[in-house]
Formats: sequence, C-alpha cells, structure tokens
Amino acid sequence: MSDSLDRYLQERLQARRDAGRWRRTRTLDGPQRPEQVIDGRPVVAFCSNDYLGLAGDPAVATAAREAIDHYGVGAGAAHLINGHTRAHDELEQALARFTGRERALLFSTGYMANLALVQTLVGRHDTVFEDRWNHASLIDAVRLSGARSQRYRHADPDHLRGRMEKAGTTGHRLIITDGVFSMDGDIAPLPELADLAREFDAGLMVDDAHGLSVLGKTGGGSCQHFGLGHDAVPILMGTLGKGFGTAGAFVAGSDALIETLIQTARPYIYTTAMPAALAAATLASVQIAEGANDRREHLQRLLLQLGKGLDELGLTHPPPLAPIQPVHIGDARRASAVAERLLGAGFLVPAIRPPTVPEGQARLRITLSAAHTEAQVGALLRALERALDQPPT
Ligand code: PMP
Repeated sequence: MSDSLDRYLQERLQARRDAGRWRRTRTLDGPQRPEQVIDGRPVVAFCSNDYLGLAGDPAVATAAREAIDHYGVGAGAAHLINGHTRAHDELEQALARFTGRERALLFSTGYMANLALVQTLVGRHDTVFEDRWNHASLIDAVRLSGARSQRYRHADPDHLRGRMEKAGTTGHRLIITDGVFSMDGDIAPLPELADLAREFDAGLMVDDAHGLSVLGKTGGGSCQHFGLGHDAVPILMGTLGKGFGTAGAFVAGSDALIETLIQTARPYIYTTAMPAALAAATLASVQIAEGANDRREHLQRLLLQLGKGLDELGLTHPPPLAPIQPVHIGDARRASAVAERLLGAGFLVPAIRPPTVPEGQARLRITLSAAHTEAQVGALLRALERALDQPPT
C-alpha cells in the first residue's frame, strides 16, 4: 500500500478509537446458545438473534448432517448454473407456504436479498419512501438502485403521507420498511403503510428479518401480527439467520416478482448458491418454527419479565412484543462502559453506538431467546441495575 493510503487508514482508525467507536470481534467457542464461552470467558449472552433457540437444535443439525452426506458441502455454482438442488426447491416451496405467498426465492444473505429486491423494483426515475431507521442493507440498496430517496420520520405514517403528497408523480413509488426495527425492537405501523401504499399506488416492501418466526400465531411475522396478507404486503423479505437459526434469506411474493428476480437480479445471478445442507437444515427449522407455540409463549413470558424489570429501573423501552429491547444510554462511551461492566458480571450485551444509531442515541441492545430462562433474565436485570448505578468513568 502507498504511504499516504496507509497513513489515511491509521488516522481513521485512531479517530474511531478516540470517539469510543472501536469495534472488534469476539471469539465464541461452542454452539450458539445463551451459555457461551467467549474470548475464553463464560458468559450468558443476550445479543444473539437466535430468537427461538433453533441455531443449535439437534433436529436442525441432523438435517444438515444428512444433507451433507447426500449433497456434499459446497453448492459449486450459482443457482442458474447447477447449484440449485432439490433441497433448495423444497425450502423455497416451504417458505412460500409459510408466508402465504405465491413463490419464494432464496438468497445467500439478507443483505444481498435487499440489494436484489430494490434494484429489481426501482431505478433512477422512481421514488423510494424509506423509514429513517431502516436497516443499513435497505439504505444501501436504495442508494445502489439510483432511485430518488425520501426518508420519512420513524414509524410516522403522517409524515410519510406528507412526503408522498409532495413527491412528483413520475416513475414508480415504493415504500420500504423494517417489520420489526433491528435496533429499537418496535413494530412498523404496517396497516397504515399498506393503506398509504394503496392510496398512492405505491409498492410496499417489508424486511421482516426480526419478526418472522417470532411474531404472529404461527410465526408468520409482523404481517401475521397485524392480520395482513399478500394483498397488503406484496413484497416480503425475510432472513434465515435469526429466528430460523440458520443462515441466508429469502424473498416471498407473486410469481411475477420472483420470476423477475431470477431473470434480472445481479445478487441472485452472479453468486454461488447457498449450500444444499443449509437449505435442508432450514427446511427442518421452518417446520419446527411453524409449530413452536411453546417457544413463542416462553419468549413472550421472558419479554414481559424483562419489560417489567426495565420499568422498575425507570428505563424506557418499546412494548415487549418483539425480542429486541434497547436500553437507551445516550453517550457512546458510557454505553461501552456499561456493556463492559455487564461483561465483567458475566453478561454479554452489546453497546450499539453511532454510526449504527444517531449521535447521542447509544444504547445497549438486549435480545431474548426462547432458550433463555427466567432466572437468567432476573440475573441480567440485577446486574444491569448495578452497572447503571456506577458513575461514568
Ligand atoms: N435486514 C435486517 C432488518 C437485519 O437486521 C439484517 C441483519 N442484521 C439484515 C437485513 C441482513 O441479513 P443478513 O444477516 O442475512 O445479511
């Protein structure tokens, strides 16, 4: 690397350290479950998106092992070459059924699914209306699509209406929102967004990474939570690495939507298919998730316990419906200090800092899983009280 480029990198790294924004990986030894050994230290983790405790489920692991015996490990090629197996096909059909949509299409990651969807739906003559707190992959997807972007206030349909009334009438319109917001744990006002989409002849796309499998009677996500089907939310994206406990993502929607993605979406066409064993494992986890009322009910009980505990500590939090509960701290350094104290007490809870959240809105992000126990949530609340009590360092 040139000296000047190297200096440029060093300066940026130093600025990040100075601003209390340093990020680093932690090394996990063993499976994804609440009791973990991370960087050699035993902790109870409250940061995983494995909401139903399926990541280490024996039935899911067995399905993966059996599929490896049959298909081998690597997919070897893109879906449209010869990477698409019977296992992928069965999972796509299961996901279409699970979401009540005509068809579903697999992607290797949620990030790629969002890039693919947005660039398939809109281009530079079109307008996207996006919630200000949408996930980074959606924001990047809109940027890459070249469409005009209109950001509306978080979960505020009135502000969105104003934006839509002011926007020109040329091109297509697309409203994009997270179903459950990944950093705040609140649920988008989908019925109101669906009404606006209808009124203004706009598409409505929901990224339900954190709602699917968790919300709704059979885990159908934030759409099922509100009783909305395909007509109200025609463009649905979900990830498989969260509540479903595996990895990858999918888009579910009409035959025309899925076929257009297959024909034109670069993040679908020009990348290796996910391994067949992953598809087979996910098929097992989707089947478990559908009937996992016991896991969802336990998770709801834990959420109520956590919500009550946060209330008693005088901490504001979203209604305890989704398994993401942020604890607002404000200052990034203080958020990091509280997270470090919790770690010292044996609890892994990440501090979420700018630029992931706006300046002054640093927070702890607590996520719950059906694999947690009431005793673990109680112990976390006590440790949190002590960690918040200590003066800023
Ligand atoms: N959308 C949302 C709302 C997410 O939270 C995430 C992951 N954090 C993604 C998309 C990206 O999914 P993946 O991890 O599969 O790339």
